[in-house]
Amino acid sequence: MKFAIYEVREDEMKMLKALEKKYNLELVITSEDLTPETLYLAEGADGVSTIGHSHMNRMIFEQLAKMGIHTYSSRCIGVNHIDLAAARELGFSVSNASYSPHGVADYTVMLMLMLLRKYKPALWRQQVNDYSLGGLMGRELRGLTVGIVGTGRIGLTVMQNLSGFGCKMLCYDVHERPEAAALGKYVSLTELYNESDIITLHTPLLDSTRFMINEESIAQMKPEALIINCARGELMDITAIIHAIENQKLGGVALDVFADEDGIYHHDRRTDIIKNRDMAYLRQFPNVIMTQHMAFYTAEAVDSMVTCGIESLLAFAEGKHYPCQIV
Ligand code: NAD
Repeated sequence: MKFAIYEVREDEMKMLKALEKKYNLELVITSEDLTPETLYLAEGADGVSTIGHSHMNRMIFEQLAKMGIHTYSSRCIGVNHIDLAAARELGFSVSNASYSPHGVADYTVMLMLMLLRKYKPALWRQQVNDYSLGGLMGRELRGLTVGIVGTGRIGLTVMQNLSGFGCKMLCYDVHERPEAAALGKYVSLTELYNESDIITLHTPLLDSTRFMINEESIAQMKPEALIINCARGELMDITAIIHAIENQKLGGVALDVFADEDGIYHHDRRTDIIKNRDMAYLRQFPNVIMTQHMAFYTAEAVDSMVTCGIESLLAFAEGKHYPCQIV
């Protein structure tokens, strides 16, 4: 069995090599994205795999189908880079990856604490031997209300993590889960915005969630509310966020994701001209924490993503179902 594996990072190699040996596979391994220019690397393959930077649109699926390839695995959870309808119409079997929600959930709580304890300006001061305390007074999570938007795998794990801190939890989801209801109280989105000191987003990017954080929803929030986004940049209207930071309506934001991060995050762009003004502008505020879409990035998650990516292609090639199959 031969598979073409795109967007391979160095940290995936150990597990890829182990699986290649275990299942006696021939893997074509490249760090390139899957594009019309790199499709030739999949010549003669039984399936292809990418992470989330390749645009898996109708044209790419049509080209793959012409090459006799009808199986595709994405080694990440998010699926907004995949035209699932086109894949379905063209007869593809498609999987995404699954990994424990703990990596992202732990990271989310870390960002909450970093904002609450003003870790970013404290770190800046340490670098220049400024050990003063002025302006660094924090707040304790225990007395606060946290609003969790999206109580799926990650949102629920955030709630489980937070349950030890003693804070009050409000949550909102289009599908309510009894496990979340046992830890917090389901309320309307308006009530969550009105009552929460910290709002954390854990919904997928859908038409119904795109720009859900906007001028109107921010206006409903408490003064100096904190927003954490470890889900997708496009859940927020970034212009509205910038206004709310400038006029101090929001007390801070921590963003592991950013609109139009593709081609920037996960790349070394030190000597390049980067054309994302919002990213450059927001980054300079002491109460804005930004990281390069790395909440998922743990050794445990990477091994699991690679395993899903390879084992699903193998299952599809043998005409079997795989637990992460989405088409
Ligand atoms: P999940 O599918 O288990 O949970 C998503 C939840 O959102 C579901 O309960 C769903 O009902 C809910 N939802 C859908 N539409 C909604 C709406 N309009 N309003 C409120 N809730 C809605 O997904 P998950 O594994 O918890 O992941 C959540 C998101 O986190 C992913 O879609 C992805 O975008 C993001 N993510 C980011 C990273 C990272 O490294 N930063 C890693 C993994 C996932």
